[in-house]
Amino acid sequence: MFRRARPTFDVHVVAVTPLTSALVRLTFTGPTLGDLSIEHPTQWVKLAIPEGHSRAYTIRHHRPAELEADIDVVLHGNGPLARWAAVARPGDRAQLAGPRGSRPSFEGAGHVLLAADESALPAALTIVEQLPPGVPVSAFVEIGEAGATLPLPERAGLTGHWLVRRPDRPKGTLLADTLLAADVPDGTTAWLAGEAHAVAGIRRHLLTDWSLPRERVHAKGYWKHGESDHKG
Ligand SMILES: Cc1cc2nc3c(=O)[nH]c(=O)nc-3n(C[C@H](O)[C@H](O)[C@H](O)COP(=O)(O)OP(=O)(O)OC[C@H]3O[C@@H](n4cnc5c(N)ncnc54)[C@H](O)[C@@H]3O)c2cc1C
Repeated sequence: MFRRARPTFDVHVVAVTPLTSALVRLTFTGPTLGDLSIEHPTQWVKLAIPEGHSRAYTIRHHRPAELEADIDVVLHGNGPLARWAAVARPGDRAQLAGPRGSRPSFEGAGHVLLAADESALPAALTIVEQLPPGVPVSAFVEIGEAGATLPLPERAGLTGHWLVRRPDRPKGTLLADTLLAADVPDGTTAWLAGEAHAVAGIRRHLLTDWSLPRERVHAKGYWKHGESDHKG
């Protein structure tokens, strides 16, 4: 069996916009970027840099008519992509391959629970923006400092919980501990993404302690402590 090749897009950076102390928005353009087919929230691409490394990143916005796409990158400082993004300048070349990722279903949800760290905040925001109106949403986001919040979309029934991690605390543990203590209303569909151990712990808790059906818990490890290029 051959895997279908993903479309690739030669791009370059056109704008670098700091969003918070932890997140920078890179806006890319390329001659064929209008053909990137983004159809649902959380879709992602492999972002490849000239040094040869590539990692998964969410397409935060796609503006096909302008041949532009935004990717919001966590400046965690430890890996080749984070280091590249920290010094990226207009004109820097890269390649995007994709999109990838299945559509998370929220059909019939009476309540949507989102749990994310900074790496999954861009994807969580694509969900909030595209959910049908009327469904209450609780979004729990772990961040590294109080100044690292982003404005949440205007939406009735959206409650944002910004969880500010102390510097000595391993990333992901505050999110996991908070979710382990949180109420989970009947009819909840959950979407969880971030550090892999944290996500696995929250998923287990929702399935076993709250008896959520498997199809109502979408969970993906976006990165893993101590592991480069984690495949979730
Ligand atoms: C579907 C999907 C969508 C994603 N979307 C985004 C996105 O929109 N924005 C985004 O920033 N990330 C996103 N990620 C996560 C991103 O792919 C990883 O963080 C990736 O490891 C970064 O590559 P790197 O070269 O910087 O570090 P790597 O070389 O992969 O890792 C080097 C070291 O850094 C650590 N590390 C990796 N990521 C983080 C982090 N976020 N915080 C702290 N330490 C880390 C690793 O544990 C390792 O020790 C997504 C991941 C997936 C699977």
